[in-house]
Amino acid sequence: MNDLTCVIIGGGHVGLHSLKAIKEETHGMVNGRRLRFVLIDKQSGHMRKMLLFRPAVGQEDIMVPWTHYSFSEGVEFVQGKVTSVDSGAKQIQYEDTHGNHALMPYDILVVAVGSIVRRPEPDRGGIALTDPLAAAAIRERWHANLRKAVSEMNPEERKRLMSIAVAGAGISGVETSAELALEMRREASSLGLNPSNISVYLLSGQKRLFMEGPEKVGIKLDQALSNCGVKVLYNRKVTKAEEDAVQLSNGDRLPVGLCIWTIGLIPNPALQSMGLPLTSDGQVLVDECYRVQGAQGVYSIGDCARIVDPSNGKADLMRAGEGALQADKLGKIVMADLEGRPAPVHKSPSSIIDFFCIGLGEDRGFVWGRKWGLNMFITGKLGWKIRKLAWDKGSMLR
Ligand SMILES: Cc1cc2nc3c(=O)[nH]c(=O)nc-3n(C[C@H](O)[C@H](O)[C@H](O)COP(=O)(O)OP(=O)(O)OC[C@H]3O[C@@H](n4cnc5c(N)ncnc54)[C@H](O)[C@@H]3O)c2cc1C
Repeated sequence: MNDLTCVIIGGGHVGLHSLKAIKEETHGMVNGRRLRFVLIDKQSGHMRKMLLFRPAVGQEDIMVPWTHYSFSEGVEFVQGKVTSVDSGAKQIQYEDTHGNHALMPYDILVVAVGSIVRRPEPDRGGIALTDPLAAAAIRERWHANLRKAVSEMNPEERKRLMSIAVAGAGISGVETSAELALEMRREASSLGLNPSNISVYLLSGQKRLFMEGPEKVGIKLDQALSNCGVKVLYNRKVTKAEEDAVQLSNGDRLPVGLCIWTIGLIPNPALQSMGLPLTSDGQVLVDECYRVQGAQGVYSIGDCARIVDPSNGKADLMRAGEGALQADKLGKIVMADLEGRPAPVHKSPSSIIDFFCIGLGEDRGFVWGRKWGLNMFITGKLGWKIRKLAWDKGSMLR
């Protein structure tokens, strides 16, 4: 009998977890037929997206080659950008690295093309932390500013060159500003500058941090950021980043050497032309078992799909942690569907436990969990260890 082909589009956090889960659940055989796996991604390896701020701070490489993964044995990797899914003919169309268009047939298809980092309108200036190249541009810019500050005689201009605004105070804005403040202070010291002149402003449009949890979490986080040298400015958004300052929504002008945008994620815009049913927000429409409506054998999870718990109507957030749990369940769902058994349905992780971890630089972690209405906090070195574990688990490095 012919092999069955399982194609996974996207080797981000969720695509990788899906590949492993389906491989482990099926052991590569279903109903006496061998299951062949293909992972197709437009990039040459897995990008550790949660660590996108790292190349903006230091020189860390956040790409992991596919072959690094032990479960990748026997998996075919194709570098290409998928442009459309023809669910009638059960094939995808993609553009390879030479710009050629090709077709790839599938029996089972997992769409895990994720999200992209939201960009402000081009005339609003600054640099959005969208990918490793933008991160490197950010690093070069603040390094250059500090070098200029060394020979700057005007104290106000020197202070401006040593200041950064981070626009957007979600978890990525918090982590970016904390690590930047610590690293900029280190670099300032090594250049003979006064490290206490480093200013990292985190601009929040809200009245507090961490709207995902109770107020006291936001207050503790503000304190932790202040200890790293970050000043959070509330109820203020950056309206425009100019060459020497940012304009704020309350009319203030803040002199800074650089503005970095960290204003959240949006579903991958490439989905708009892929031929799959989408919500008005641009996420793939799936049922409670991640099956794409009207496309037999096609599943979608992760940031690119709208995943709702049928028992309480709660939609999952665009988070790697939630996507990894979806992937584990997807393995069981695919196996059940192939064997014609009833499949398990999605359950929102927040109906089991609320859990967030945030990194604030080496040995400075911040973990918050809530179960049965009880809040739990872990900070410092242990919080950092848990944070690192979550990053590594997210990219399947442990
Ligand atoms: C700075 C930052 C910090 C974050 N911190 C956290 C955190 O602390 N905790 C947390 O839970 N989440 C965090 N997130 C969110 C987390 O990164 C996402 O939820 C997660 O990456 C989603 O995984 P995914 O596989 O669905 O999508 P993605 O990671 O976006 O992966 C999609 C993959 O699909 C590929 N792809 C895209 N389009 C195509 C195409 N047309 N053809 C072929 N391949 C394609 C991409 O190259 C990529 O490899 C953070 C995100 C950012 C940016």
